[in-house]
Amino acid sequence: MTDQTSNNQSKSSSIAIVGAGVCGLGIAWRLVQAGRTVEVFDKGEAGRGATWASAGMLASGVEAEPGEQALLALNLTARRLWPGFVRELEAASGIDLGYRDEGILSVAPTRDDAEQLRFTYEFQLGLGLDLQWLTGAEARRLEPHLRAGIAGAVFSAADHQVDNRQLAMALKAAFLRAGGILHENREVTGLDMEAGRVRGVWVGEERHGAEAVVLAAGPWTGELSWVPEAARAPVRPVKGQVLTLGMDPQAPLLTHVLWAPKIYLVPRRDGRLLVGATVEEKGFDETLTAGGVYELLDAAWRPLPAIEELPILETCVGFRPTSRDDAPILGASAVEGLILATGHHRNGILLAPVTADAIARLLLSGEIMPEARDFGPDRFARGKLADAV
Ligand SMILES: Cc1cc2nc3c(=O)[nH]c(=O)nc-3n(C[C@H](O)[C@H](O)[C@H](O)COP(=O)(O)OP(=O)(O)OC[C@H]3O[C@@H](n4cnc5c(N)ncnc54)[C@H](O)[C@@H]3O)c2cc1C
Repeated sequence: MTDQTSNNQSKSSSIAIVGAGVCGLGIAWRLVQAGRTVEVFDKGEAGRGATWASAGMLASGVEAEPGEQALLALNLTARRLWPGFVRELEAASGIDLGYRDEGILSVAPTRDDAEQLRFTYEFQLGLGLDLQWLTGAEARRLEPHLRAGIAGAVFSAADHQVDNRQLAMALKAAFLRAGGILHENREVTGLDMEAGRVRGVWVGEERHGAEAVVLAAGPWTGELSWVPEAARAPVRPVKGQVLTLGMDPQAPLLTHVLWAPKIYLVPRRDGRLLVGATVEEKGFDETLTAGGVYELLDAAWRPLPAIEELPILETCVGFRPTSRDDAPILGASAVEGLILATGHHRNGILLAPVTADAIARLLLSGEIMPEARDFGPDRFARGKLADAV
């Protein structure tokens, strides 16, 4: 059991955060920077939930889908924050975030794939996104190991990547350095309530007083049986299997993040190549399956056959925290003093800086950031999104 406390705690009343993933730690860091006393609790080690399994793509452009315009505005706000966030967090933590800005290349191996890709590309251009259509030959000039005969590609220079694990470690370090209190391997088991409002959290028999509690428990948020019914977040785990292959860092097979049908490949500077990810409705089933691995390798091999020579360094199963409408849930719940910061689905790393700012601002000044307005928990109230899936 680890309990880490810095020695310059502020005297103002405290805020408790349930969950030390990128969301909980980012909010916590912003709050201690503003002089608040913050206690973060995690049932395991910090950063080992969904955050650990992630691929760290900051894909706001190429990922834009019909019906997600409000989410796009939030994603683009996050994208604008990222370069400054990296500089500030690296300086505050002393940890390199592995930020890479080569961009994302989305390729269509066949003519059918190219038609589908062009349809999405035109939709995304209509949203004002800055994307570039490339011929197969142009795509191969960017990435010479791509299979010959690629039918077309889209390049998004503004979609970057970060090492999600380094990000979590950096947030933890910056939070502790700024005066935060982190309790790892301490599961929050209840809320302390008085006259209908939150007064703290329970960790077994131990009470930790707090004027506000933030639920940032990622894919577990919907399972917290001690959360009052009125504040329950409709969040479920969506399983993803991911493989890590090993490239020679001096002669990597890829330098851009590569998207192809049913697959993405994310090259890290140290030579790791992440291959992900399955999308499965299997609850918290942690099994790595033959079918899942086969699906990933087959889909990766089609655009990039040279992967067959690479060693498999790691396999990983993680769970996306997915809300009923696939968008994050950010804001005050129906229970006074209880704030939700969850449901980030496939974009929680991208949205980490904007989540941190939005929730910290809400707690410090009561203000709701304009871009976060559409993502309050009240949208799930009976009659509003009741039929959404
Ligand atoms: C395979 C995969 C690939 C992904 N790829 C990307 C990507 O490329 N780009 C991107 O932006 N996003 C991606 N995501 C999504 C992203 O990883 C998540 O949205 C994000 O990490 C969520 O962060 P979080 O802090 O909300 O949750 P988590 O990181 O899960 O943190 C929640 C924490 O809460 C703790 N907790 C739970 N219950 C309790 C309790 N009762 N008491 C105390 N602690 C508790 C857990 O132990 C956990 O550490 C991916 C996700 C997966 C699974």
